[in-house]
Amino acid sequence: MKFLFDLTTDEQKKWFFTTAQSENYRFRQFRKWLFQPGVTSFESMSNLPRSLRKMLAETFTLRTMQVLAKNGEATESAEKFLLQLADGNRIETVLLHNDSGEHSVCVSTQVGCAMRCAFCASGMDGMLRNLTAGEILEQFLLVADYLKEREKTTHREERLSHAVIMGMGEPTANANALLQALEQVSSADGMGMSARKMTISTVGIPGGIAKIANCDKPYHLAVSLHAPNDALRNQIIPANRHFGVRQILRDADDYFEKTGRRVTYEYILLAGINDQSQHASELAQLLRNRNAMVNLIPCNPVPGKPFQTPSEKQIQRFVRILQNHGINVVLRHRKGDKIQAACGQLRAAHRRTRPLS
Ligand code: SAH
Repeated sequence: MKFLFDLTTDEQKKWFFTTAQSENYRFRQFRKWLFQPGVTSFESMSNLPRSLRKMLAETFTLRTMQVLAKNGEATESAEKFLLQLADGNRIETVLLHNDSGEHSVCVSTQVGCAMRCAFCASGMDGMLRNLTAGEILEQFLLVADYLKEREKTTHREERLSHAVIMGMGEPTANANALLQALEQVSSADGMGMSARKMTISTVGIPGGIAKIANCDKPYHLAVSLHAPNDALRNQIIPANRHFGVRQILRDADDYFEKTGRRVTYEYILLAGINDQSQHASELAQLLRNRNAMVNLIPCNPVPGKPFQTPSEKQIQRFVRILQNHGINVVLRHRKGDKIQAACGQLRAAHRRTRPLS
């Protein structure tokens, strides 16, 4: 059995027209069903001929993941899903709520991560494998299914409007699968989510940012900078030794030139490590004259790691220094701490949980 969502639209078409010998209008009907929240079997695609539905069901599956655990309640600002893949591996997907019935999903791209950022739980066991395009896409479908179900109690539309590719993994190290999945999410005959409302976050490995810049879709770029110089960044992100801050800024400048879109720089605040006044000034120097937004993220402490959140006073001092230098700053709300939303935390907490069979 093949996972249907691992196929591109063209591959699906080819199967439809050659193997199933079906017509174009049938394919359009089929595509509508695929992205309808709650439709998880071919059987429920009621306007397709029975014989076609049977043939589809004998060839493809529509879902591969199971929810192993969930943290957070629908009434809170975020809910986190621990998902078990068909091969038993586990990933995390987070659903972030706002009050108006719009929701964002935070999506994983790999099982584990090879970057080994010092503060992050995702890379603690290294990188196990890339997710397939279908597995990346399925995370969107799963939360859309979930939101559809929730409409029954809220009696209003619950819309998945935004996506951040900030879950487990380094997105640009699995760019082909990611871009194939996002193509389905953003296309009019797919989920129809605007590419402008999707943010891809990267540590900036060589060639990675260029893949986003050159893909001809207006995805928003976020760069996990976390330090204003290489000495410090090498400590926080070991992979940085192979490329460095200057190279990343050049790549991000190229992205801006190509797309005209402002780049977000993420900066996690680790108490006593990268949160001092001199770091704020150095960061401001780096980003001066760039069309940039700094997203400050107070660290979410991970058990077994020596990092703490700075005091509120220290955070505000950091914000003020950047602002005094004319840098745009937002402070990320810590939606995730109650639900172990820091990258990889829920998965790490469930190391010993028995797999679902
Ligand atoms: N590899 C990509 C995508 C992963 S998202 C990247 O590094 O950009 C990584 C983001 O998760 C980081 O920018 C940081 O904002 C967040 N993150 C990971 N661990 C965290 C922690 N312990 N506390 C707060 N934020 C964390």
